[in-house]
Amino acid sequence: LVTRHSLREAQHIFRILLVEDNLVNQTLAISLLEKRGHIVVVANNGRQALAILGESTSRGFDLVLMDVQMPEMDGFEATAAIREKEKLTRRHISIVAMTAHALKGDEERCLAAGMDGYISKPIRSDELFRVIENHVTAVDPAMPRSLAQQITIETLDANAVLNHLDGDVELLQKLVETFWDDCPRMVSNIRDAMKDESPKALEIAAHAMKGSLSYFGTNSSLQATLKLEKLGQEGTMNGAAELFAELENALSGLKLSLAALRREVGARPS
Ligand code: MN
Repeated sequence: LVTRHSLREAQHIFRILLVEDNLVNQTLAISLLEKRGHIVVVANNGRQALAILGESTSRGFDLVLMDVQMPEMDGFEATAAIREKEKLTRRHISIVAMTAHALKGDEERCLAAGMDGYISKPIRSDELFRVIENHVTAVDPAMPRSLAQQITIETLDANAVLNHLDGDVELLQKLVETFWDDCPRMVSNIRDAMKDESPKALEIAAHAMKGSLSYFGTNSSLQATLKLEKLGQEGTMNGAAELFAELENALSGLKLSLAALRREVGARPS
């Protein structure tokens, strides 16, 4: 059931790139952000963050939470590289530093490096939520942001889903977790097929995605995937890019739909 409450929440959903190498910090930030309905993508260092930002097209991100000290590429270097690329796109993504340094002058250093704000670690929920509100709304209004306008929360049929799982709520939770763990790989297989302009590869990749998505009943991610598979079967890439963008958006919505489903079945008396 999609309630008025969850729809209202959906209007404040942001897509956040969390760049952090510490697993405890990652876990904490993801839990806090997802509890508020935000969609979180994790990068373990600056280099991964650049790769993810380079790949994101239609969806984009509303905010980057950037750890400072990381292996391979630190937060200052990554921020400098992001700002350098933005000179071409004339966009500006909000970057908020997360640093364990309690040194005086650290905030100035973050701002000088091109970051928009700063929170200190250990992460505190109130500070984290405040900084998100402050920085995401400060984004250039010309930028096509506001994921909230594109995102749709679908109502998934909990009974239909559970019927196929012997009514096992724990199994459903496990399935949802496994799906999200594997989802980036499946999406990137589809993306690769498109880069290679290979209908055969598209068919295979979409087929695999379909297999996983079909456990969650009828949903728009599944619809887009079926259409992609059909294109592949027909040996054409015509319209694949649009469908892929549709799939990416639908997956953002599915994340919320599945979270709602998990809350719903989790709250049932056993
Ligand atoms: Mn670190």
